[in-house]
Amino acid sequence: MAKITRKPVPRKTPGLKKKPKPAVAKPRAPAKKSLKATKPWTPAEIHEAFSRFRKANPEPKGELEHVNPFTLLVAVVLSAQATDAGVNKATRALFEVADTPQKMLDLGEERLREYIKTIGLYRTKAKNVIALSAKVLSEFGGEVPRTRAGIESLPGAGRKTANVVLNMAFGEHTMAVDTHVFRVGNRTGLAPGKTPLEVELGLEKVIPAEFMLHAHHWLILHGRYTCLARKPRCEVCLINDLCRWPEKTV
Ligand code: SF4
Repeated sequence: MAKITRKPVPRKTPGLKKKPKPAVAKPRAPAKKSLKATKPWTPAEIHEAFSRFRKANPEPKGELEHVNPFTLLVAVVLSAQATDAGVNKATRALFEVADTPQKMLDLGEERLREYIKTIGLYRTKAKNVIALSAKVLSEFGGEVPRTRAGIESLPGAGRKTANVVLNMAFGEHTMAVDTHVFRVGNRTGLAPGKTPLEVELGLEKVIPAEFMLHAHHWLILHGRYTCLARKPRCEVCLINDLCRWPEKTV
């Protein structure tokens, strides 16, 4: 039998690899200036900023329409990842027929879905609203609970919901951090934080008690109409001399 001779397989020698060509250096975006380097606000500056907000709008109102604590709770639960205007459009007709937990249960999940089907995630939200109505009736005597733990125990309600309801329905000094408040807290340097909770606790710490009842709305409205995400209107901003944002345009 003929002997089979194998061709030697060339072995890779470590270290003889072709060196990759050096990549052409891409122009880098200029690094964003950090807020860490800026001076924290002084108590006098914070007082001044909120005095200006108060003078411009002494009684700021939230934009979510409601007629009692229960409808406020429902509106906030429906507003997750939706605009206030979109929620209002749906709830105007809904609250005509269901403004209490019992009426909401009587309406039922299927008919509730019809009212709110223009709102994102409406199927899950309908389920939550029915479940929370049942729980408000069975565990809280039909009244929206006045405690954070009580509100947060309701289906579909988290920390932000509790903060909004405690503030707007019961006058507590809570700070709900939505996308606008988060941006304003960070940009201005008032309460920089990586998470909504950090910003919430930071704002609660620095804002004087006399402003806390309305601070949440002043900051939301400021973010919604002045300190816009893409193009902040620094030229008309009430606090542009105090703001620490290194990229402000004034
Ligand atoms: S100055 Fe500009 S960035 Fe600063 S709070 Fe006002 S609008 Fe926002």
